[in-house]
Amino acid sequence: MAEFTQLGLSQTIEDALSKKGYTQPTLIQAEGIPAVLEGKDLLAISQTGSGKTAAFSTPILDLISKSKSKLKPYHIRSLVIAPTRELAMQVEESFKEYGKGLALSTLAVYGGSAKKLQVQKLAKGVQVLVATPGRLVDLIRDDKIFLDEVTHLVLDEADRMLDMGFKDDLEFVLKRLPENKQCLLFSATMPKGVEVIANTILNNPHRIEIAPVKAKHEGIRQMAYLVEEEKKADFLLKFLKDRHIKSIIVFVKTKSQANKLERHLKANHIKACAIHSDRDQRQRIYNLKEFQKGSMHVLVATDIAARGLDIDGVGYVLNFNLPQQIENYTHRIGRTGRGGRRGIAISYISPSEENYFKRIQKELGLDIHIKGPTK
Ligand code: AMP
Repeated sequence: MAEFTQLGLSQTIEDALSKKGYTQPTLIQAEGIPAVLEGKDLLAISQTGSGKTAAFSTPILDLISKSKSKLKPYHIRSLVIAPTRELAMQVEESFKEYGKGLALSTLAVYGGSAKKLQVQKLAKGVQVLVATPGRLVDLIRDDKIFLDEVTHLVLDEADRMLDMGFKDDLEFVLKRLPENKQCLLFSATMPKGVEVIANTILNNPHRIEIAPVKAKHEGIRQMAYLVEEEKKADFLLKFLKDRHIKSIIVFVKTKSQANKLERHLKANHIKACAIHSDRDQRQRIYNLKEFQKGSMHVLVATDIAARGLDIDGVGYVLNFNLPQQIENYTHRIGRTGRGGRRGIAISYISPSEENYFKRIQKELGLDIHIKGPTK
């Protein structure tokens, strides 16, 4: 097993990693960091939970900290494009943490937040910019971001960006980047659209594919209960109370369901909050922080809002409804059992969802016995 000290990172970054309590690199870090430090392009097929953020942020920090040239106003050195504001914020936070002591300017720009402050920071030039596609395009159109000095590009969760309809925005940005740059592409899956982008931007990339889904969830106990749809809320309430659950993410299908369940839990004295795409930015950040602090015990979420969220130490994940896209089952349960800890993933299956659950299991190679029926 490799050690962080063997990967070629600078002492400052190694210190920041050990301060975070990381003792050993994950697979993607052990293979990806040396390749990026050598200047290679990278194609990584991997998911949230693999340690991908540190795999791209630490070598990029190392490389750009060695560059002495001064940035012009509104110019940036490295660009990370991520699908959601939550992910963008987390990536920015990782760059800040791992880059402590390097004094590199870092900024995240995303929709729903005030442009004025972002523009003030951009005016000084930014070493690491993390952006969602829409806001990035806006700022480029406003002449507040120029890409001609970019030396490093990361596309994070590329498949998700295409799923969310950002293809045109990505093309707009990619066309404006200089020819000579190092590109890193991360994607959980490789649909055709991602392949096309990979072929366009990557130059003889080092390819890493992290073991398929199944093997990654060894630390997670997966269970399922047969529960009629209208009884699910009370079944959950009883579970939360009986077990004194302090940290659970509950996935629902729609925004209105999220609101309804949040209300129901609160009315029954459970500390619950919800995140979904209709909540404004400040509310989402606030709720997420409260949950991470432990002030809230239940986070009710829709798939879009939760994708890519780095929430540590979640003991339980509950599929109140099954995800509409099968791959989201994997993303959801990946919220628990991180960093070698054990986690529990539970699914409430209504009679009408039984066949669909069988299909999910078949596709993902799972073998989960459905308990119930419940009274
Ligand atoms: P990511 O795949 O980047 O979303 O990271 C998943 C989680 O693993 C995050 O909570 C990281 O803080 C954590 N993590 C990343 N690298 C390591 C490591 N080498 N050792 C332990 N935890 C890690």
